[in-house]
Amino acid sequence: MAADKINLLDLTLPELVQLVVEWGEPRFRATQIWRWLYSTLAGDPAEMLNLPKDLRQRLQEQTYVGYLKPITSTMDEDHLTEKVLFETIDGQYLETVLMRYTNRNTICVSSQVGCPIGCTICATGQRGFVRNLTTGEVAAQTLHFARKLRDENAHVTNVVFMGMGEPMLNFDAVWRSILNLNDREGLALGSRRFTMSTAGVVPGIERLARESLAVGLAISLHAPDNALRDQLVPINRRYPLEQVIPASKFYIERTGRRVTFEYALMDGVNDSDDHARRTAALLRGLLCHVNLIPMNPTPNVAYRPSPNERVLRFQEILVKERIQTTVRLRRGVDIQAGCGQLRGQYLDTSQ
Ligand code: SAH
Ligand code: SF4
Repeated sequence: MAADKINLLDLTLPELVQLVVEWGEPRFRATQIWRWLYSTLAGDPAEMLNLPKDLRQRLQEQTYVGYLKPITSTMDEDHLTEKVLFETIDGQYLETVLMRYTNRNTICVSSQVGCPIGCTICATGQRGFVRNLTTGEVAAQTLHFARKLRDENAHVTNVVFMGMGEPMLNFDAVWRSILNLNDREGLALGSRRFTMSTAGVVPGIERLARESLAVGLAISLHAPDNALRDQLVPINRRYPLEQVIPASKFYIERTGRRVTFEYALMDGVNDSDDHARRTAALLRGLLCHVNLIPMNPTPNVAYRPSPNERVLRFQEILVKERIQTTVRLRRGVDIQAGCGQLRGQYLDTSQ
């Protein structure tokens, strides 16, 4: 695959119109191509049979549809969580996870190869940053599973940016992919179906709050004070809690939506009664929801998951303080579905 070809999934609809007009074609051809990409879910211009043959040929020569090559795929025992390791056109690796629930099919999408933030619990963070993903690479992950689910008479219901990377540091590409997947002529995934998860990049939270679509926001909190959060989520030194909490308030005011705070419980690190009480104090009065999860054990990470009774006790304290809290069921731990773990394993064995 020549890297100088145009990835059709990198383009917005107006950009696709511009391309076909430059090629001397009528504008409506762009809408036809768009429907092939996002509604029929074509994986190759050769499939676009209602286009004139010469246009189809030109598309085949000069463009492609979101090249992402599946390298390995793992399925957990109950067949509910599936993880795919993809190779990009330039030989990088990224991971995407499909999580099937009773009424939902959620895709956990990567936004970067690696991540520059370097959180101490995170397999991705341990391996540094390579590059941002393009709009098309972000969208192609969802489309891969949309095709797969369609074959089972199912469809994608939610997209969460909780795979590899920090979506707020690749805002433009992530946002363009959201707009493309949201478009009514295509997959038509509603704005409420998307959630951007951030380690606390304040300018990104503020930008999300101002955007035209009210997309969901999750903030990876993991600690109720700066001293501990500085250690676990290093970007806290740049954007401490005194900035993260007002930014979440701003998001809530602008969108009317509640914020989800992710809190991964680590044995003896951030899981005491006192941590729970201080978390409640920090979040009091905010329209929010806390997701507690026992951290995923990760290679090269010294922390251990909190025992279940600790997790439940932590929840009890938050609930008593009237903070809405759920304990997230562990999913995919047995298939190394924790953030960046499959890529880490692959890089270790292929070097
Ligand atoms: N960069 C963004 C989104 C990707 S990480 C963010 O940090 O929010 C998605 C989530 O996985 C974050 O909440 C992150 O803190 C969490 N995470 C990373 N490593 C983990 C581990 N070993 N156990 C549990 N959660 C982990
Ligand atoms: Fe990056 Fe998120 Fe991992 Fe932190 S948890 S290193 S921000 S991907």
